[in-house]
Amino acid sequence: MTTTFETLGLSQPVLQALDMKGYTVPTPIQAQAIPPVLEGRDLLGIAQTGTGKTAAFMLPSIDRLRESDNQVPFKSCRMLVLAPTRELAGQIAQSAKDYGAMAGLKVHSIVGGTSVGKDRNKLHRGTDILVATPGRLLDLIDQKAFRLDGVEILVLDEADQMLDLGFIHALRKISELVPDERQTLFFSATMPKAIQDLVGKYCRNPIKVSVTPAATTAERIDQYLFMVQQAEKQSLLEMILKGRHEVPGKLERILVFTRTKHGADRVVKKLAQAGIAANAIHGNKSQPQRERALAEFKRAKTPVLVATDVAARGIDIPGVSHVINYELPNVPEQYVHRIGRTARAGKDGVAIAFCAEDERAYLKDINRNTDAEFERLSLPENFRAVVEGVGPTKPAPKQQRGQRVQPKPKAGTRGGQSRSHGKPRQGGHGSGQRSEQRGAVPNPVHAGAGDNAPRPAGKPKRKHPNRAGRPNRSGGSPGAGQGGGGNHGGGGRPQRRRSSGGGGGGSPRG
Ligand code: AMP
Repeated sequence: MTTTFETLGLSQPVLQALDMKGYTVPTPIQAQAIPPVLEGRDLLGIAQTGTGKTAAFMLPSIDRLRESDNQVPFKSCRMLVLAPTRELAGQIAQSAKDYGAMAGLKVHSIVGGTSVGKDRNKLHRGTDILVATPGRLLDLIDQKAFRLDGVEILVLDEADQMLDLGFIHALRKISELVPDERQTLFFSATMPKAIQDLVGKYCRNPIKVSVTPAATTAERIDQYLFMVQQAEKQSLLEMILKGRHEVPGKLERILVFTRTKHGADRVVKKLAQAGIAANAIHGNKSQPQRERALAEFKRAKTPVLVATDVAARGIDIPGVSHVINYELPNVPEQYVHRIGRTARAGKDGVAIAFCAEDERAYLKDINRNTDAEFERLSLPENFRAVVEGVGPTKPAPKQQRGQRVQPKPKAGTRGGQSRSHGKPRQGGHGSGQRSEQRGAVPNPVHAGAGDNAPRPAGKPKRKHPNRAGRPNRSGGSPGAGQGGGGNHGGGGRPQRRRSSGGGGGGSPRG
């Protein structure tokens, strides 16, 4: 029997809300998590954002709240969702409102960087669902403006990130303040020892649901690598954004990661000098600045956003076509989180890493600790001259593009072989054919340059040892192909990597 939201046992009001959202097929984590949560079981979900995990915990919780029908407690809440960042808290609260639209539940969110007084007032009468960052929640508790004794359902979302952000003490304290009689839903993308300890503290005999093994890169993300000197990264970025050096994929919304806040500001400033509008999002930005940057990015008014890890964690922006790792993260798992910002909700994505000489150790760590598989791209032919300001910005000749530079083979693994591009992939998500060829449209970032810019050619064919023989997915349809890429009948669109994580074809990535 096909799994649908109905067969998972959700109520009519929730099903109606899903209908309004246009969701038809549960994602793998939703299919696995909803039935046990409806039964009242504790849950341990190992999943990244982008898997549909918010709905996986929110939908059945809404039904449980409706069923128990307890009164909204004074200065407390019935369901508490803890999230690491303001952005994620905002998104979860919005989802709760959307999914609970027909259920008549009160939803509030409280985050740092906003007026505590306003939060105190709005929570005075209590709420059904509260989404909070741990720091602000404890502030209100310390001020005796809020209590946790009404909590029936507790959700910890992105627990590993909360730990990274130093919320361990806050989480320990909160665990002592919530009633023993409650349901706990615990989510983390990774399961280091500290998280396992926290699970032991919070959960009772939880059902474990894992949609992708920890540190597994999303299967629909093609990953590329430029070896480039640190001092030349800005020029390379500008050439890519202006369409003067082609990269695979159609540039739509580009999320650029730097390691530091300073670095993010510097990149944005230099992009502005080069005539490319971009915003930065990081911890030093005020809440309104962050919200504005995200809104402009979502509306694609400014399709380039430069972010640091913390700020970008958990951000759900539909349609990020490219993640550019301007600087490699020093924690391999962070790489997985970063590139997970693309290829969300069933879409495909491209991740491009800029690796400088002194970042080779990070690259090695990423290779060793994740299943990342890079295809190396060539720098523009005349790159040095352009960087030094003496040469034209002529695009690289076609044979140079997408040239496969073999990485050092990993012992006994895929490392020394290449994937088979241009082959259609197996069914599952969007098994419908895509008519568009990557890169065959003008560059929205810099329209002037993009119009005359060369179109990315299909990547050279290569064979993935585990995926050989998969049926062709794209069929190399010319689709929007209007440009001079000249890749028709060639490689077509690169094949995507897929993992087996959770199955559930046709749904957003699990
Ligand atoms: P999340 O992992 O909760 O951040 O969700 C990732 C994205 O998938 C969000 O944009 C959701 O709105 C979307 N989404 C969640 N569940 C579904 C579904 N069953 N069908 C389509 N989109 C979904």
